[in-house]
Amino acid sequence: MLFHMRRAAVAQAMGTGVMVLFSAPVAYRNRDVEHEYRQDSDFYYLTGFDEPESAAVLLADEGRGRLVMFVRPRHPERDVWDGRRVGVEGARELHGADEAFPIQELNNRLPELLRGRRRLFHRLGRYRDRDDLILWAIDTVRARGRSPYLWPTEIVDPEPILHEMRWRKDEGEVRAMQRAADVTCEGHLAAMRRARPGGYEYEVDAALREAFRRLGSERCAYPPIVGAGANGTTLHYRANSGPLRDGDLLLVDAGAEVAYYASDVTRTFPINGRFSPDQRAAYEVVLAAQEAAIARCVPGSSIEDVHAAAVELLVVGMVRLGLLRGEPQKLIEEGAYRRYFMHRTSHYLGMDVHDVGAYFIDQKPRLMEPGVVLTVEPGLYISPQDEDAPPGLRGLGIRIEDDVLITPAGPRVLTAEIPRKIEDVEAACR
Ligand code: CA
Repeated sequence: MLFHMRRAAVAQAMGTGVMVLFSAPVAYRNRDVEHEYRQDSDFYYLTGFDEPESAAVLLADEGRGRLVMFVRPRHPERDVWDGRRVGVEGARELHGADEAFPIQELNNRLPELLRGRRRLFHRLGRYRDRDDLILWAIDTVRARGRSPYLWPTEIVDPEPILHEMRWRKDEGEVRAMQRAADVTCEGHLAAMRRARPGGYEYEVDAALREAFRRLGSERCAYPPIVGAGANGTTLHYRANSGPLRDGDLLLVDAGAEVAYYASDVTRTFPINGRFSPDQRAAYEVVLAAQEAAIARCVPGSSIEDVHAAAVELLVVGMVRLGLLRGEPQKLIEEGAYRRYFMHRTSHYLGMDVHDVGAYFIDQKPRLMEPGVVLTVEPGLYISPQDEDAPPGLRGLGIRIEDDVLITPAGPRVLTAEIPRKIEDVEAACR
């Protein structure tokens, strides 16, 4: 079983020690209304368990692992209100716990689980109440005076082990990410069909969400950005409330989450279905930069290399469009392009939309390997108030973003089905 194999690999990496992971806390929206619950990615990665108020204790002895889970017990009365819980029995039978207890017993049992183990893997600082519990448990073991037992004297961050594993996606994870990409494709096609002059950004937002949910996505991987005209130049625009005007572009940044894996895609298209000559010229610059950057998504190159490839073509394009003047190489060195392209080209993608994994090792850019998934998302953002920019380009916000898997044979674009070339985008908008 998948989660069992992952735990075995983690136990192997731990050697001898104990790892304590906690479920994501419930967040309240207002008064007694909760935000939609979404399990912590590390916790889910090792347990496949999606309920709140739970903890997983992984005991490793010379590389052999044993899982103790603490979960909300079955409760016939609560089940009527909240639905059926997996319960202590389910934690054992469905989730492969070697032992399982009600979460209420965590405090009493934790010292005993730490006893005799020098290394404790716990992420300090994320949730202070959990830090308190861990420190109390260590102190409780230590306080037993002349006890012949060891207690944890080393607190180790579990993230390097877990995130190193999550950084490289295995075949099953790649399949899940492809499903998320396919659902996202349908959402973007629906957005292109829905947008029309006289409409509103929220109608397009609704079309995206409708497609995602209809195709089985649990939720958006992040709040969609639907920005028309100059709203597309606001990088984290979230209101999605503006009007769709004839002649403007619409920037849509949205991705579905499927089975805990994210997709992250941006398309920019004309609201009336036809790019104007200025829009077309600017779009071609971003598209060429993206294609050059995707070509660098191969084993042995770094995310810095991918970024450099995008920046190079963006700057050449900025000069051609009349946004910048000067020698491209010099403009790159001076960072002059940041006025129109102010973010990075890529981030890792996986269970988290900004996924885990080190970007640098010993302060040097890390080289990518097969199984790594990253976004490639160059953009061009020209403020409507930019009086140095040619008038026809002011207020344009263009980003093209795809999800790319590194394979031994080169880049595989998981989101390749979503129209990207000008004629394909125009056809999808009709
Ligand atoms: Ca994005």
